[in-house]
Amino acid sequence: MFCAKCGNNLADGAKFCGACGTVVEAQPPAPPPAAMPYQQPLYAQPVQTPPPVYAPSPAYAPPMQMAPLGYAPPLSMGQYLVTFLLMGIPLLNVILLFVWGFGSSTNPNKKNLARAILLMSVIGFAIWAIVGGLGIFSGVLSGVLEGMGSY
Ligand SMILES: [Zn+2]
Repeated sequence: MFCAKCGNNLADGAKFCGACGTVVEAQPPAPPPAAMPYQQPLYAQPVQTPPPVYAPSPAYAPPMQMAPLGYAPPLSMGQYLVTFLLMGIPLLNVILLFVWGFGSSTNPNKKNLARAILLMSVIGFAIWAIVGGLGIFSGVLSGVLEGMGSY
């Protein structure tokens, strides 16, 4: 056995530690772990406990009405009709397209529609500007060429 304080090797039956003088208390020798008899109930008990039953509670039931992320209710025919009718009003349609296209509370479907119409009008305007610009350019060029030819 060894001293509990300093770890000095003590003779069996010693009352005091020879190194530090600590009183050696009589301790029952701890049985080696290998000698421990395998206790079946200790290990079997947790297994035998029945699993907790998760009763379906209405308070914890997921709401069935909750829409998945990114889902937007489709626009009704009336909403499309009103949208397209409003698109026919000059100036207001441009304002509404910007409001719908970049508003936070707008239905995503309507938002995408407004953005698509805006983009379409921008593309249309760009094509119109290019074609018109080319027409003016060619007209000026032909006029210059005619002017040069007359000399
Ligand atoms: Zn000691």
